[in-house]
Amino acid sequence: MDGKKIVLSINGKEITCGLNKTILDVVRENGIQIPTLCDCKNLAPFGACRLCLVEIEGIPKLITACSTIAVKGMKIRTESERIDKSRRFIVELLLSDHPFDCMFCEQAGTCPLQDLAYEYGMKNIRFPGEKRATITDDTNPFIERDNSKCILCGRCVRVCDEIQGVGAIGFIDRGFQTRIGTPFDRNLDCEFCGQCVASCPVGALTAKPSKQKGRIWQTRSVKTICPYCGCGCNLTLHVRDNKIISVTSDPDTLNEGYLCSKGRFGCDYVHHPDRLQYPLIKKDGQFIRSSWEQALTLVAMKFKEIKEQHGNDSLAGLSSAKCTNEENYLFQKFIRAVLGTNNVDHCARL
Ligand code: SF4
Ligand code: SF4
Ligand code: SF4
Repeated sequence: MDGKKIVLSINGKEITCGLNKTILDVVRENGIQIPTLCDCKNLAPFGACRLCLVEIEGIPKLITACSTIAVKGMKIRTESERIDKSRRFIVELLLSDHPFDCMFCEQAGTCPLQDLAYEYGMKNIRFPGEKRATITDDTNPFIERDNSKCILCGRCVRVCDEIQGVGAIGFIDRGFQTRIGTPFDRNLDCEFCGQCVASCPVGALTAKPSKQKGRIWQTRSVKTICPYCGCGCNLTLHVRDNKIISVTSDPDTLNEGYLCSKGRFGCDYVHHPDRLQYPLIKKDGQFIRSSWEQALTLVAMKFKEIKEQHGNDSLAGLSSAKCTNEENYLFQKFIRAVLGTNNVDHCARL
């Protein structure tokens, strides 16, 4: 056996896998589903939700698959009556302190907690105790937080810290009072990248610009590239009635689902009434609508006039970081080969 591989068994079946992988990774690689709420791609294991509990032969208690490294010879069970009972109990405890707001919640339809409640048929919760107070933060234009729906999975805190390197939010208080918030409970004032919203499995964090604009099944998805900069992040536009109502990014793309605030929240300019949608030519102090052919002919004529009167080097071109590499290449080619000058630069060096 290759020293970089180990053999273990899952549900009685012999499996060969790589070293230093968590049980959850190995289980998933082999097409076995385990429910999770706190696990999130690229974030360090946290073991908060306890839903990924598995049995390991020789270990009396159930073990979290997300935070346990698979080792040689392990005999793992992902399904048993004991595991099922334990998972149901965890979901029931989460729901015992949950507002059951699915009719109005923005996450309805894509909420794994809602799915688990459905799967386990959790209609009657046995623990009708105290519920946490609703503490919301609605003080900024982008993100609304409703702690009554928070399941304390820590995904928002970890993505903000581990991926964004910002650390704008954290766990506040302890025990039943634990909640997510900002230092000293100040209003959220961060980069507004929206990564926390994208990571939140439930409806505790909502992107305000898309609130009540449409359910996920009422929208059509359009994959595109962010129009803002040359990084070229992948976007998925969620479109309803021909209007972009929200923007997400697929974790399996090059930017791994991460966006900046412009990509995530800035695409509404597409529908702005002031947006230029056709060329305008100024005549007698007034902008007059024209065709592309008229506009480009006029610009070409003006370039020609300047070149003839003042020489090629009287012209210069400045390109933009918003363009792709290919567009920048074409731009410099145009300036050098058509306008005949090397006066070409880029805003990044300005
Ligand atoms: S977070 Fe999920 S379970 Fe809770 S109200 Fe929203 S959709 Fe329902
Ligand atoms: S929007 Fe971005 S920077 Fe602000 S709290 Fe969320 S993850 Fe952190
Ligand atoms: S706000 Fe969402 S992501 Fe953050 S801890 Fe609560 S449930 Fe998890």
